[in-house]
Amino acid sequence: MSEVVQTMARRPIQTLMPEVAERIAAGEVIERPVSVVKELIENALDAGAREIRVELRGSGLRLIRVSDDGVGIPDYELEAAVQRHSTSKITDVDDLEHLHTLGFRGEALASIAAVSELTLLSRAIETETADEEQAGVWYMWRGSEIVQRGRKARPHGTTVTVCDLFYNVPARLKFMRGARTENGHVVQLLQRYAVCYPSIRFHLIIDEHTALLTSGTGDLANTFSELYHLPLHDLLDVVELADEARYRIHGYVGNRVLAQNSRQYVMLFINGRWIQSRALQDALEAGYRTLLPKGKHPLLALLLNVPPDEVDVNVHPAKIEVRLEHEAEVKAALTQAVREVLERSPVSPQAVQFPGPVLANQRKLPGPRRHGLHVSESAEGYKAEVAQPGTAEVIAHLRPLAQLQLAVILAEAPDGSLYLVDQHRAHERVIYEHLRRTHMGGRQEDASVSAHLLLEPVIVEMKRYQADLLEQRLPILRGLGIECERFGGRSFLIRSVPLNEQGEGQEQLIAHLHELAETASEDSSDWEDHLLICLACRSALRRGRDLSSSEQQTLLSALARVTAPAVCPHGSPVLLHYSRSFLTEKFAW
Ligand code: ADP
Ligand code: MG
Repeated sequence: MSEVVQTMARRPIQTLMPEVAERIAAGEVIERPVSVVKELIENALDAGAREIRVELRGSGLRLIRVSDDGVGIPDYELEAAVQRHSTSKITDVDDLEHLHTLGFRGEALASIAAVSELTLLSRAIETETADEEQAGVWYMWRGSEIVQRGRKARPHGTTVTVCDLFYNVPARLKFMRGARTENGHVVQLLQRYAVCYPSIRFHLIIDEHTALLTSGTGDLANTFSELYHLPLHDLLDVVELADEARYRIHGYVGNRVLAQNSRQYVMLFINGRWIQSRALQDALEAGYRTLLPKGKHPLLALLLNVPPDEVDVNVHPAKIEVRLEHEAEVKAALTQAVREVLERSPVSPQAVQFPGPVLANQRKLPGPRRHGLHVSESAEGYKAEVAQPGTAEVIAHLRPLAQLQLAVILAEAPDGSLYLVDQHRAHERVIYEHLRRTHMGGRQEDASVSAHLLLEPVIVEMKRYQADLLEQRLPILRGLGIECERFGGRSFLIRSVPLNEQGEGQEQLIAHLHELAETASEDSSDWEDHLLICLACRSALRRGRDLSSSEQQTLLSALARVTAPAVCPHGSPVLLHYSRSFLTEKFAW
């Protein structure tokens, strides 16, 4: 990613020809302090910096300073750098097709200079002046006018200082939120760059306190630990995927334990840019929705690289939306990457230890500040768990002891620890995976679930907008063992329900046929998955059902064979675990 930037040889700054300038999606880029920081960081990255230092005072309105050790700007070009549509990054329309830089519009510095007091101090890497004292040059603009200039010693690189932002735009100032909000935006921005560029050292200083510091070792897992001040190495699973020339995906997906209440930690980057694309976000979410509890989102950073001519970043002024050439393939790969990690990531039943989850006391951890990452248990306990045999293996060797409240199977593991298994959710997971395999796997007729003909067909009434969708989907329902036909107007006749694994007709589904039909007529792209979940839920054993010891054993064996035994398709826990050490400790044996 950053290599792309590195290999770029610096070109002279030129003013774009009007026809090129017109082809660029223009944008009011400078909205608030964080927009300034973003542009300045991108310039530093484009200049091949290894170390970027950002300083903020008065929530960025008093001062923003970004210093880098990049290639610098030669003195004779400093003035041009601040002119509108002046850039060293592209010269003609063709360059837009294969961008290797983050910037290309040549308007950021011009826009910033117009609304602040901007000082540019730089020393170009190629200067070999004998007089070191004279080696740096600085210019100061106020409201786009040069007000001062001079020379000052400094190693190669650039320092941009922005003071009194929006001093001449009172309307903007009115929109500024409190300092906490503005600073918070900058912290989040820096976190994203730090993740996307792990080999670059980032240092953020807010009002003279270090708010973020990374060591730039190039190891993304290490960067994560530095950002959140948590030993995250063991809780992250690496993702490496590539499809020859089409794309390369590298990154990490956090273990279930790290699931968060916000999407903030689901980060996607394309060719070195943070991207917020609805379509790609949905693809990531499709990978975890059934594997995490409702409303939870993983900690995840995926760095996607595609050939520059296959991505169009020019569609959005802030460059956070993109168009991709092989979007469908990329989406499938993203979904798969997330799902695979979460499915195989060992579940930690310890997460639900009695008397409740152990909250990591992050305050005790070293580091200046926490940034809201919530860990649902102590990472320490978790590591011990990972070292143990896989969950599936443990479940395969569980010995059922009894049934609690006609709802929970109590079972002993070979190591003498106790597992509590929610019978409904366990069965639901088993059925759901079975349906996915037979149904989603291949859509051929022979892969269908057998049907049980009802003695009396059931009539369901749909709303008008549902009826047409449902009609189109009848063949898919048939594949699931639900024979259904339109019966004029908005009525449908359902003639069969699916057979269960034992070949029994599932009469209990009759009560839920309307709900199933409604799910099958949802106007969403993942209606099929919703339907499978609904079907699994309504077919699964209820709580309150008495299970013989051999039925308990059968259910546990089936659970041991699924890929994600610890969560039900809705994302709720299936298992609780009381370890031996828990017993030893609590009984003080
Ligand atoms: P753009 O990044 O789109 O080219 P900017 O207004 O951000 O436009 O910058 C204008 C030019 O100034 C850049 O093309 C680059 O040549 C030069 N420049 C700006 N910041 C830096 C920096 N930190 N290091 C080296 N050159 C810089
Ligand atoms: Mg720029």
